[in-house]
Amino acid sequence: MGLTTHLVDMMEGYSKALYSSFYLFRNYDLLFDCGEGCAARLDRHQFRARWVCISHYHHDHSGGLKGLFLARAYTKGSNDREMTVFYPDRSPSMERLRRWLDRDLPRLPFPLEWVAVGPGFRQRLSLEDARVPVDLEAFAADHAAREACLGFRIVEKRKRLRPQFVGHAPEEIARLARQIGHDALMEDFEKPTLVYSGDSDPLPVELVRGADLLLHDATFLSDRDKEEPGHASVEQVLELARTAHVSGVVLVHTSHRYSLRSVRKAMPRLLRRTGYQGNLWIQWLDQTERLDGPLDGEVNGPRSEEVKK
Ligand SMILES: [Zn+2]
Repeated sequence: MGLTTHLVDMMEGYSKALYSSFYLFRNYDLLFDCGEGCAARLDRHQFRARWVCISHYHHDHSGGLKGLFLARAYTKGSNDREMTVFYPDRSPSMERLRRWLDRDLPRLPFPLEWVAVGPGFRQRLSLEDARVPVDLEAFAADHAAREACLGFRIVEKRKRLRPQFVGHAPEEIARLARQIGHDALMEDFEKPTLVYSGDSDPLPVELVRGADLLLHDATFLSDRDKEEPGHASVEQVLELARTAHVSGVVLVHTSHRYSLRSVRKAMPRLLRRTGYQGNLWIQWLDQTERLDGPLDGEVNGPRSEEVKK
């Protein structure tokens, strides 16, 4: 729970399906997608965007790149801070966008690196000597689009007690540690802290199992509204989150055919039906709104720590 709310507190985001989507995590120096208006919304936080992960070529996810580069170059701040843009390989539209930006932009005062990546790609984000190594990983999203689409997740390499020692009393563990060595008691495992689906039908359970925070496409409120494959419904996301024991969910990319009030109204029913009991927010324009809290009084409330927590 601690990490879940911390991640939400660290997020600067925007979501309006078909128009623009982007989510900055200040703690990871990481930007998921870069729709129109990204630099304007992030303002000074844009200097945090060291790693930029573009999920797919659609304009609402990539149309803000030029503005981001120019803001990095010309507004007051760390103008020479390097930036790496990961984008899907096997995406001719992304290659065209990249070539156009390379030609069209002036000489930038910061090193800009473009890296075409596919599912399984990994980038170490933590420093070499970090106690808990942190990796960024790309995976295939199920967006039913003409070109390759990705999602991304952050994975921490942690240690835990081997299963045969779980449940032993602390004194017994301490005795064993002296006898066979601390390392013999422990095993490595990978823990997803943060998962971003990009635009996608529900992700496979294995990708999100045990995640602290899941940002998932929730374009439709109910399965009945799904007109085509390639996007998920709120109901499907909550079902996935329950099955995969996800601690917190931020619904993103929700269609603005619904009002925020109608989403809130449907939520008790959807939570009951799916049995999801974790923390729940929705990214609605530039606000991160709590959905599992009280029904009244917050709809047009100010962006505040209470709203986010
Ligand atoms: Zn899309």
